[in-house]
Amino acid sequence: MMPFPIAATDAVAHAGVQPESCDVVIVGAGVLGVTAALFLRRRGLNVTLLEKGRVAGEQSSRNWGWIRQQGRDPAELPVAIEANALWRQLARECGEEIGLTTGGTTYIARTEAEMKTYADWLPHAAAHGVDTRLLTAEATDVLIPGMSRRPVGALHTSSDMRAEPWVAVPALARMAAREGVVIVEGCAVRGLDVQAGRVAGVVTERGRLRAPEVVVTGGAWTALLLRQAGIHIPQLTVRGTVAATEAVPDLHAGCAIDERIAFRRRQDGGYTLGPAGFHEVFLGRDVFRNLTRYLPALREDPTGTKIRLASPKGYPDAWTTPRRFSADEVSPFEKMRVLNPAPNRRIAEKMRSDFAALFPGAGEVRLKAAWAGMIDVMPDVVPIVDRCPALPGLTIGTGLSAHGFGIGPGFGRILADIVTGGAAGHDMSRFRFSRFSDGSRIRPGPAL
Ligand SMILES: Cc1cc2nc3c(=O)[nH]c(=O)nc-3n(C[C@H](O)[C@H](O)[C@H](O)COP(=O)(O)OP(=O)(O)OC[C@H]3O[C@@H](n4cnc5c(N)ncnc54)[C@H](O)[C@@H]3O)c2cc1C
Repeated sequence: MMPFPIAATDAVAHAGVQPESCDVVIVGAGVLGVTAALFLRRRGLNVTLLEKGRVAGEQSSRNWGWIRQQGRDPAELPVAIEANALWRQLARECGEEIGLTTGGTTYIARTEAEMKTYADWLPHAAAHGVDTRLLTAEATDVLIPGMSRRPVGALHTSSDMRAEPWVAVPALARMAAREGVVIVEGCAVRGLDVQAGRVAGVVTERGRLRAPEVVVTGGAWTALLLRQAGIHIPQLTVRGTVAATEAVPDLHAGCAIDERIAFRRRQDGGYTLGPAGFHEVFLGRDVFRNLTRYLPALREDPTGTKIRLASPKGYPDAWTTPRRFSADEVSPFEKMRVLNPAPNRRIAEKMRSDFAALFPGAGEVRLKAAWAGMIDVMPDVVPIVDRCPALPGLTIGTGLSAHGFGIGPGFGRILADIVTGGAAGHDMSRFRFSRFSDGSRIRPGPAL
């Protein structure tokens, strides 16, 4: 089987020198940190992007590669529309082939009840002029020919796209570096430097870096880092297993999912597979601490989350991971340069056989790789993208809840404008930091 393309043992591609000071420090070089850095640089700021492991080593390379507007929380939809346009722009500007293809998103329905749920989302698309529509069974069969199980219909958005995650985000990082962002891989931020009640920079494994503005886009590690400054967010992580087939005949150009399996064509002619409605949570202290906040989401999707006993050693919520540590000791971030969870092999094999059964015309389906990612989630399935009210100078972008690859450049642009005092351009109240402490009811976004 092919090894996962980004590993902690890879040579460092961005060996920037950590400066003594800069205008903005960004912690974490996933899709959000990379695009926020790029847009901040384009606003004329000196930006340092610090990454404990490798650019896009975690979620931003491990995802399915879907760039979708379809099925979004209504508050996210305008950002997703902007992100689609930004992906096109960035793909042109970076001058590298990132696999950006407009193949559409399709949710295949096997029951009338599913069709009803999908129909309920159409008004959101219509309100923003997105080309989402319901397809009949016949139209679904024409769009995705050769399926062994007959659909009742589908929800389809032709303008949705796909890209190759482990190619795309590193390509955007190279562009950001060319434009002047200082990127330092293999450099963990151990804590925020707080002085006189505001952020004064960060403390890394290489020492202090002074900056009046710090943006934390640390994915699965954000809650642990913020905790060092006494800031608590109810973030958890869940494991998602992914598999990649070897090349098969061209079955469908876009991204699609039915009641069992998600599939997306890759540039190399294979398909990236994900299980429909299946992820695993490892028990740890944060799970117990935040459980009640997740009850609304669990009620909406009672079967999707499978519980696994202890969080493996070194993970953000492992029993032995220290929750507080001092800035002059080796931190959990350095001990886990790239969080590379073992995939669930049983699920990977089930995906292979489900895919082969759905497309009997594909011939023998073989897997060339299987991997997993720890997905950072929030109780209402939408991120925090906001300034931190308790700590001037700190801005947070995290909790993209399994759908941040596609929307990432949109929130990256917004983070840049938040930091520079510009207009977010969209109603950001749904993504405010304070929603978990101001008595608001937790309203999970659509599990679509
Ligand atoms: C299996 C799977 C399937 C998915 N499918 C899709 C999909 O098809 N479409 C979609 O839109 N989204 C999808 N997602 C979600 C998407 O990948 C994420 O929402 C998105 O990549 C999050 O980006 P990020 O930049 O916030 O975090 P990440 O990509 O996780 O990046 C955070 C970075 O911060 C670094 N970091 C953390 N702490 C520190 C520190 N203290 N110092 C320095 N660096 C630090 C980490 O090493 C990491 O590289 C999927 C995710 C997974 C795992």
